Amino acid sequence: YDAKFSSKDVSVYHPSMTEELIHRKKVESQLSEAADRDEFSLVFQPQYQIQNRKVIGFEALIRWNHNGKVVSPADFIPVLESSGRIIETGQWILDQAFQQMKEWQDAGFDTRVAVNISPVQFRDPDFYDRVVDTLNRHGVCPENVDLEITEGAIISDVTHTAATLKKLKSVGCMISIDDFGTGYSSLAYLKNFPIDQLKIDQAFVKDIPHHDDGTIASSIVVLGLSLGMEVLAEGVETKEQLEFLHMHDCEFFQGFLGSRPLPAKECMELLLRQQQSDTPLEFA
Ligand code: C2E
Ligand code: MG
Ligand code: MG
Ligand code: MG
Repeated sequence: YDAKFSSKDVSVYHPSMTEELIHRKKVESQLSEAADRDEFSLVFQPQYQIQNRKVIGFEALIRWNHNGKVVSPADFIPVLESSGRIIETGQWILDQAFQQMKEWQDAGFDTRVAVNISPVQFRDPDFYDRVVDTLNRHGVCPENVDLEITEGAIISDVTHTAATLKKLKSVGCMISIDDFGTGYSSLAYLKNFPIDQLKIDQAFVKDIPHHDDGTIASSIVVLGLSLGMEVLAEGVETKEQLEFLHMHDCEFFQGFLGSRPLPAKECMELLLRQQQSDTPLEFA
């Protein structure tokens, strides 16, 4: 019997657990009303080709505007996942992202849109049907749809993953692995699943070109390229990081150096500016 777990400790710990549970239930109930109250919105972060500094697409990122504050998705996505509500919200995200994409498509912009897919959403047996139905309803070009999944989504059920990814590929969608290198999956899946792009997690980009992070980032580029995949670096904030990535053959990047996530209207302005100008974008 370990003295550390005395009943005294337990009774002290218990009230805070209850408080935490009450807080979580409160957030859950606020989230359940968020969609009806129009509190969710999407912002879009530009993705660039490093070589010619062109915007090639946007990643859709959800925002929750609650009581005058913007709550980080890192804080509320897990709550949506544990309550199962992520399926519904994930559908809302697909609809909003595709609707936006259709607007850009109709304006003549052949731009890619990346959508984050929660592992819970990916595991939903109806996920594939939902994606196809949403594609059809909005009339967007599937080749420009980039579905971002994480290693966590992949490892839980290999048979389901293989079948789902194969079907998504057969309709033309692109598949990316988000936060690559931070999960617990085996590298074998890279050979067996139809993956188009690796997104280098910002943790490996952060300290470039110092320490070992440059080594990991450049190794991911080599790995991705040798498997015939595209490689995009996330969280690029400095010119030094961009130069390092360019020198190591990384083709795409995303990050505050290029742009923060923007409202859709500003993305359209960016696309128009790019179309009208011959000079490539300058990153400060
Ligand atoms: P993620 O998919 O890896 O998205 C990248 C995150 O890094 C975004 O944070 C983005 O704003 C941030 N970021 C971009 N450039 C930089 C940079 O240069 N420096 C730094 N420090 N950060 C940068 P955000 O929007 O807060 O999203 C956090 C995470 O929440 C996302 O990570 C994703 O896992 C999840 N998430 C966001 N939107 C959605 C969504 O619509 N659906 C789902 N399922 N998850 C989402
Ligand atoms: Mg992402
Ligand atoms: Mg990421
Ligand atoms: Mg992340």
